[in-house]
Amino acid sequence: MKKFDLTHYSFKQLMEFDACTRCGECVKWCPTYSEDGHESLQPAEKIRRMKSFIASQYGLRARLFGPKFPADEALEEYSRGVYDCTLCGRCNVVCPVKIDTRPLWLAMREHLVELGHYPEFFDTFRDTVTTKYNISGDNNEDRLIWSENLEQVPEGVKGKEEAEIVYYVGCTPAFYPQSYGIPQATVQVMERAGLDFTMLGGEEWCCGYPLILAGMGDAVKEFVEHNVAAVRRTGARKLVVGCPSCYHTWLHEYPKIMGEPLGFEVQHLSQLLEELITGGDIKLGKFERPVTYHDPCDLGRNSGIYEAPRNVIRSIHGISFTEMEENRRYSRCCGGGGDVAMFNEELVNAVARRRLQQAQATGAQLLLSACQQCERTLMNAVRQEKVRMRVLDIVELVARVMEE
Ligand code: SF4
Ligand code: SF4
Repeated sequence: MKKFDLTHYSFKQLMEFDACTRCGECVKWCPTYSEDGHESLQPAEKIRRMKSFIASQYGLRARLFGPKFPADEALEEYSRGVYDCTLCGRCNVVCPVKIDTRPLWLAMREHLVELGHYPEFFDTFRDTVTTKYNISGDNNEDRLIWSENLEQVPEGVKGKEEAEIVYYVGCTPAFYPQSYGIPQATVQVMERAGLDFTMLGGEEWCCGYPLILAGMGDAVKEFVEHNVAAVRRTGARKLVVGCPSCYHTWLHEYPKIMGEPLGFEVQHLSQLLEELITGGDIKLGKFERPVTYHDPCDLGRNSGIYEAPRNVIRSIHGISFTEMEENRRYSRCCGGGGDVAMFNEELVNAVARRRLQQAQATGAQLLLSACQQCERTLMNAVRQEKVRMRVLDIVELVARVMEE
């Protein structure tokens, strides 16, 4: 076995292995460890294990007596901890020495792919995404299938050569019927507001984020170049993205991968909704029910958008909005992130049930979010627990209460 390739980690990350004081704060806040209880899932433990692997190959003893390599079983257990993580970033927020944990977990995943210790499922997944350009393996030309039962299909859905705005849907709402309501509501709102928008149809490819999360970011450049070129061809000044994970990728990863600015603004759908409501472009009627809001990790903690969705909710007349016990930076993950749902559904369901209990404690009848993945995950928890609670994306509620 050759020595570990440390170029997977930045200089700062190599320092972070030493900076961890093992205070255990991250362990208390980790939503997957708190459900599963296996030591390998503890954030601090992942750091300790990798630090000891490095020391046994590069430390003083290794220099004196030769490097010692971890056994396959040790690497497998370490890999379990690294992949059974929703990448929610809560450990990041609570770490007193400010270890930037989330990018560290991603670097560990890339390293594990190189070492050949990662969930087997990801081999098939990579093949699917890189040949079909979406996560479900469907024909990519069917990306607008959700629009077929709209009473009126807006011009922008059919695709215009040029437009001011491009609406990027993302794979889950495009191909999973449970989430069709989100793009359907979005285009209705855009049409009502009189926006000049278009969509990419089959030219929309997966944003690449699920591959980055799997530790397979090397396959993503082709996706980035394709998607950016498709948006640029429309001459749009703005890209509106409904999925927080796609939004995060477009805003933060795409310019880095392209090595240049995108040349258009990237906006999350919740920000557009806030803008349309504030500007009087759409008018909202009444909804007199108790609701609560779940912060999607990739929108809140990982992108810093907390207020836009809350402002949208508060602008609905008669609504009674109560925060959950853990919210904003400290929001508990729904379990749907980090690609975990692709290989460990049991863990995802346990994390989602815990979040659902927090929503129930507010007395809400409706649990709102701003992410199709959170909506799907929480809806599954509602079904399993048989509780009287509805789950919707804020755009679906806006479309329902929007006045003529
Ligand atoms: S909170 Fe930070 S310093 Fe404390 S154990 Fe976790 S990673 Fe280490
Ligand atoms: S990112 Fe979330 S799930 Fe992963 S170790 Fe940190 S707190 Fe736990």
